[in-house]
Amino acid sequence: MSKSSATVKKEVSTAVFWDRARRQFHAAADLINLDKSCREVLQNCRRVTEVSLPVRMDNGAIHTFTGYRAQHSSSRGPFKGGVRYHPGVTREEVMALSMLMSWKCAVVNLPFGGGKGGIVCDPRQMSQGELERMTRRYTKEILPIIGPETDIPAPDVNTNSQIMAWMLDTYSTEIGRMSLGIVTGKPVSLGGSVGREDATSRGCYFTCLKALPLFCKMQVKEATLVVQGFGNAGYFMAKLWSQAGGKVLAVSTSRGGVFNAKGLDVEAAQKHYKKHGDLVAFKGGEQISNAQLLALKCDVLCPAALEGAITAENAAKIQARIIVEAANGPTTPEADVILDKKGVAIIPDILANAGGVTVSYFEWVQGLTNLFWKEADVHSRLQEVMDTAFDAVYEQSQKLKVPMRQAAMALAVARVADAFTKRGLWP
Ligand code: NAD
Repeated sequence: MSKSSATVKKEVSTAVFWDRARRQFHAAADLINLDKSCREVLQNCRRVTEVSLPVRMDNGAIHTFTGYRAQHSSSRGPFKGGVRYHPGVTREEVMALSMLMSWKCAVVNLPFGGGKGGIVCDPRQMSQGELERMTRRYTKEILPIIGPETDIPAPDVNTNSQIMAWMLDTYSTEIGRMSLGIVTGKPVSLGGSVGREDATSRGCYFTCLKALPLFCKMQVKEATLVVQGFGNAGYFMAKLWSQAGGKVLAVSTSRGGVFNAKGLDVEAAQKHYKKHGDLVAFKGGEQISNAQLLALKCDVLCPAALEGAITAENAAKIQARIIVEAANGPTTPEADVILDKKGVAIIPDILANAGGVTVSYFEWVQGLTNLFWKEADVHSRLQEVMDTAFDAVYEQSQKLKVPMRQAAMALAVARVADAFTKRGLWP
């Protein structure tokens, strides 16, 4: 059977994604004059596993899904990264994402390497029973290469705490004892961490507390925010901002946005979004398109939807002074150049959205020690990690005279390369 044009297009775009991830790595390696041997090793994934997953569907037939687990580097610690369920998952996509996880964990100095997994499936078309059987089969197939000190999966696109609970149960049953450290993003009742739900946004928010005085000489309560995407990352970012007394001018979903010059009522918008699935009939502001939202005059713009939102086509229209990337890869390299020329400060994704994996790390530590922290402790430790990482990236950007994105990449690659070099090659 020939492949559909959409499938071919996706394969091409994910191959480009892997190529871009590698080019980004080599650009950072150039900045720090990384030696040839480190480049040779770190430009590749250490292991990419492909598994066939025969699953009994509700109609009695067996359907075979394809799953992957890419493991980029474990020089600094166990592989760490999410598992996504999506029809467009490909080998190159999980490879690129696992490499990015190595850099993200290194920027915030977590003792983890980078991993990422996925299953090619359409979870919207599957029952809970089918999802459970597929998840358990996937866990069983990758069991030899995962473990609390080997590789620790977590939720990603279309996976959640229930899926993590099934992974934990399958793994624990197979090894004959409870293993809380095998996954993160678990339900709190099963060893999950308090403070995980809003961790990505809280980390983003902490980076803004640092960036605003530095780049705009202002505090949050005087600053305006525009958020693209009103899901987990976008909603909590808007909520934290307005709780701190800052004005949230606009938010949007895939069906368009809403703008209020006096500041939106974030909770009312969220209530509406939860009930209706969009903000189209929301009365708390004026309806705007996603293109209009990106061009609004504001202090901080937070892309919190999909990759590739800010491109060469719309970058010139952006009026924000700071862009804080809650989403992964929201700005294309071409847009980066335009924004840099305009003097827009970008807090790059591997730093800005690392709060999620940081609290995952806290969850893993709590699971390994069986000692569970209070929410206030999670927040204060998260702030400490984000502040330290922000300062290190800023210092690097001053030293190398490059924007924060290149500085974050250079810092991360140097840290992974240092661990690799000190450990050495064996055999
Ligand atoms: P989500 O599915 O909860 O929310 C996504 C939101 O984006 C939805 O409101 C959706 O309507 C909106 N959206 C989609 N297309 C849009 C468009 N073209 N214009 C405007 N809005 C659009 O997802 P999430 O968990 O909030 O993740 C958002 C981004 O943040 C992703 O890039 C994800 O990789 C990244 N991220 C999330 C976390 C986390 O902990 N949730 C951690 C790290 C990175």
